[in-house]
Amino acid sequence: MKPIEIVLVYQSLLGIYGDRGNAMVLRRRLAWRGIEARLIEVEPGDPLPASGAIYLLGGGEDGAQVSAVRRLREDGNLFRAIEGGAVLFAVCAGYQITGHSFTIGEHDEVIEGLGLLDVTTRRGTERAVGESLSHWTRPDGTESLITGFENHGGFTTLGPGAAPLAFVEIGVGNANDGTEGAVQGRVIGAYPHGPILARNPELADHLLELALDRGLDPLPSTELDELRRQRIAAVRKAGLRR
Ligand code: GLN
Repeated sequence: MKPIEIVLVYQSLLGIYGDRGNAMVLRRRLAWRGIEARLIEVEPGDPLPASGAIYLLGGGEDGAQVSAVRRLREDGNLFRAIEGGAVLFAVCAGYQITGHSFTIGEHDEVIEGLGLLDVTTRRGTERAVGESLSHWTRPDGTESLITGFENHGGFTTLGPGAAPLAFVEIGVGNANDGTEGAVQGRVIGAYPHGPILARNPELADHLLELALDRGLDPLPSTELDELRRQRIAAVRKAGLRR
């Protein structure tokens, strides 16, 4: 079988929050199952492959996300890949640029996004910074918690074409409206860093299942379960419950 291609997009622009760890988690979870993966790192100026199975966008500063969105539009291959059935997982700035538009700077300049998610981002009155915890319903109907660290000034509103990824117990999420992240087809956006896929292995496996078009056996790990249990307890102890 051809190796699964994981495309890590523009780390020099969207790499300041350690979200590259998401790519490492995906690759490792595939390797543990004996599935070969190839990690392709693409920097601005290099063409994006259109053949990837999963594309990853990370967090970044306002200026960097403007450069990223312009370059991605010029390149065009992310659109082709999504049309062809690829999965896009976008975190924070990456999530914001995947929507219709977002604002930056003192004058709230409106910047056009990629339009791959029916969401719109506007600068809020204060920054959302801190640990977050939200409830995600997996495709099989079971619930899983998503933990992470959010740090964003943009607040995101969902249109009818996108569904919330999860519902917030602790933290701000999209816009202090009780929702976190968005899902539209195979495009998923979320605010938490961590990296989020290291802290939430079930979400990592969900992306892999989408990309592979088949279910995967779980990878039980008492060590990971215990780390997650401790982390969730710490977030609940420190955080403000909605
Ligand atoms: N620059 C964006 C904001 O502040 C995204 C920040 C991030 O990626 N953590 O809203």
